[in-house]
Amino acid sequence: MDVALVEGSICIQDKLAVEEIKQTREKAAVVVAVGGCACYGNITRFGRGGQQNQPQHESYLPIGDIIKVDVYIPGCAPTPQQIRNVCVMAYLLLKGTKEQKDLATAYLKPLMMAAQRGTTACFCDLMTDVINQGLCMGCGSCAAACPVRAITHEYGKPQGQRDLCIKCGACYNQCPRSWYSFDVVDNYEAINEAIMAALQ
Ligand code: SF4
Ligand code: SF4
Repeated sequence: MDVALVEGSICIQDKLAVEEIKQTREKAAVVVAVGGCACYGNITRFGRGGQQNQPQHESYLPIGDIIKVDVYIPGCAPTPQQIRNVCVMAYLLLKGTKEQKDLATAYLKPLMMAAQRGTTACFCDLMTDVINQGLCMGCGSCAAACPVRAITHEYGKPQGQRDLCIKCGACYNQCPRSWYSFDVVDNYEAINEAIMAALQ
């Protein structure tokens, strides 16, 4: 495989799932975690088992806790365009011309850095990486994503109640500015053209 897309977290009591994710890493040049559960675990980190069909399934981890992941596509759910663009750019990074590789690097770098950053995130990370950097645009996605209502939206900005935060990473995953990149913004038209040309 050139590029493997993996969706969802991994149940560590499911030996087949654990084996398959390890095989995916061995066989694929680029492994992409698609969506919040694959990247950060989100609410699946708090699975406690007991489901009627698989009561023995109790613990779930984002894939980066089991294998090395190259690229994150955050979002719950990511848009089809995001997924398509990452596939095309990962392919161009492996097989493109020098110019295509440069654009693919610019496009993928923030998503690769997100994967290198790790599998855990909480409201404090949102404060440090987004709000305190002046990057918050007040969209409210973090507050809408929080499963325990630890974030309220006041005066156009998120406010976190840290004692309520269960560190699921959903807010960080959902924030469109947690992987903001000037390189992508500056090369927006050239990146779009490269993707459209590759699709034809
Ligand atoms: S603030 Fe909410 S969404 Fe963010 S990490 Fe904490 S519990 Fe999860
Ligand atoms: S999701 Fe990000 S940009 Fe939107 S309000 Fe929350 S911190 Fe700000």
